[in-house]
Amino acid sequence: MTGRGPLLIGVLSVQGSFAEHVESITRLGARAREVRLPQHLEGLDGIVLPGGESTTLLKLIDAFDLRKPLQDVIAEGMPALGTCAGVIILAQRVSSHNMQTLGILDITVARNAFGRQSESFEEDLAFEGFDGPQFRGVFIRAPKIEACGNGVHVLSRLQDGTVAACRQLDVLATSFHPEFVEDLRVHQYFLAIASDRRNISNTCT
Ligand code: GLN
Repeated sequence: MTGRGPLLIGVLSVQGSFAEHVESITRLGARAREVRLPQHLEGLDGIVLPGGESTTLLKLIDAFDLRKPLQDVIAEGMPALGTCAGVIILAQRVSSHNMQTLGILDITVARNAFGRQSESFEEDLAFEGFDGPQFRGVFIRAPKIEACGNGVHVLSRLQDGTVAACRQLDVLATSFHPEFVEDLRVHQYFLAIASDRRNISNTCT
């Protein structure tokens, strides 16, 4: 049974920026577990889908038989954080490519829609609920979140109005890379979601 002690957050660790997520999580005092096999999903308080290369990530998710287990745990309420490629993996619709994503988050994304690798950029972002300075958004061949369904709450936008972060229930998505900056507020926000979820689960069982 979960309940006491530090939160335990899984990080999908088959490709991409998983080590950076593990570091951010542990710096905040939570425990992180690298997830490569279905049994690694047991007993987690949340799961992170990192940045990387979404087609490769999806191939490896299937190769490691993680697709259905991931879909099931998130459908059952496990909080999830997707960053950059992780957002593509969570999205229900990819307008630019024919891809079999996990189909969880009610958003439409276009891959690489900000341009080529050389057109990667950084922008300071206002993020709902964050005190202090704006959050440095690092966008590396980022997906563009083109549309959000009714149940999706926008948390941050680029200056041109493009959605940069959003949340549907306990699923959080950022098209930028919070794992590449020292500022831990996005991870802190996710840990707060995971902590709330754990408290709710404990009172309901
Ligand atoms: N361009 C990558 C993709 O489409 C995402 C890049 C990233 O995660 N930094 O999969």
